[in-house]
Amino acid sequence: MYIKSIMVKNYRNYENIKLNFDKNLNIIIGDNAQGKTNLLEAVYVSGFGKSFRTSKDSELVNFDKPFANVKIEVQRDNGRVETIEFRINEKSKKEFLINGVNITRISELLGTINIILFYPDDLKLIKESPVERRKFINRELSHISHIYCSDIIEYNKILMQRNELLKRLIYKPDLKETIDIWNEQLADKGAKIILRRKKFIDDLNVISNKIHAGVTDQKEQLNIQYITAVKKLENYDTIKSDLILMLNKNIEMDIKRGFTSVGPHRDDMEISINGISIKSFGSQGQQRTAALSLKLSEIEIIKNDVGEYPILLLDDVMSELDINRQKDLIYTLKNVQAIITTTDVKNLLDDYINASKIIKIKNGN
Ligand code: ATP
Ligand code: MG
Repeated sequence: MYIKSIMVKNYRNYENIKLNFDKNLNIIIGDNAQGKTNLLEAVYVSGFGKSFRTSKDSELVNFDKPFANVKIEVQRDNGRVETIEFRINEKSKKEFLINGVNITRISELLGTINIILFYPDDLKLIKESPVERRKFINRELSHISHIYCSDIIEYNKILMQRNELLKRLIYKPDLKETIDIWNEQLADKGAKIILRRKKFIDDLNVISNKIHAGVTDQKEQLNIQYITAVKKLENYDTIKSDLILMLNKNIEMDIKRGFTSVGPHRDDMEISINGISIKSFGSQGQQRTAALSLKLSEIEIIKNDVGEYPILLLDDVMSELDINRQKDLIYTLKNVQAIITTTDVKNLLDDYINASKIIKIKNGN
């Protein structure tokens, strides 16, 4: 699957442009503030129904215009061409059309095209707290498994209720007997989540290690390890009983603190390069490459899941990568359609991109 063309009207700093894309590599070059990210964002909104930068649709409409309109043409692997279009009207209401037909719910849009975006904020995945890594895991796994998605929702509900009870136990110790019911439910969902995460992170480890080795000319070994309080990860039963054991063990502390201290809501991933933690000791380029390798793993994961390669949008990834990593990255992307923004292309003008499309953007043109 690839995007053949895009028409952008009154979107952000664009007035009216139409562009054709190459089925593989597209490089968007321009100085700062010319509209590179805006263009990627227009593609992204077409696939996800919302922006990655704002939740306010009104911000997507050109300051001087009453409405915005974006239309992309997608060519499927089976040769079929489809269109996805969205409009944001004067009242900031957004509507989507697939092949010219209005859709009523955004969920109908999801999965029509699969897009992976990498943008500077994704460094959070490496640099920031475990919350970011759990978000990544949850998003990926929800993509693959609806059951996982509903298990997470259920787990969070039970967790909230258990935490409520913990807060009341200080004043009403006789309620303590009821905690077992919550422990049982929490451990049930928790065990399912942990089991799924274990398999996912094992797979992710293999795929991202391979990608990372490719991008670093085999110099760096990326390793991803699942960090969870559960020690017996063999199967659902061992995980569940371990969780119940820990919930019981920590009960006095949990009552004092008013929250549940163990469970998958505290999980993390340890990401290391050549045996050294990348969060604490990685250089900027290494951190960026590692974040990229994790993101690029999504390509294989989605391909295995839906049978088609997703489209890759890379915003500003080149800036901290040296020339060899840039070339290796582009080589890694040979099977997919990639749209890459950069301010500077001089390093890249060689055999690797001779065949690709270069789009120069200046002030929305
Ligand atoms: P950089 O290299 O700094 O990332 P960029 O080319 O990616 O730059 P964009 O983020 O695409 O730049 O933004 C380009 C310009 O679009 C900004 O200067 C911004 O002021 C302008 N812009 C954003 N929203 C709107 C809007 N709704 N209407 C008009 N212009 C807008
Ligand atoms: Mg930008």
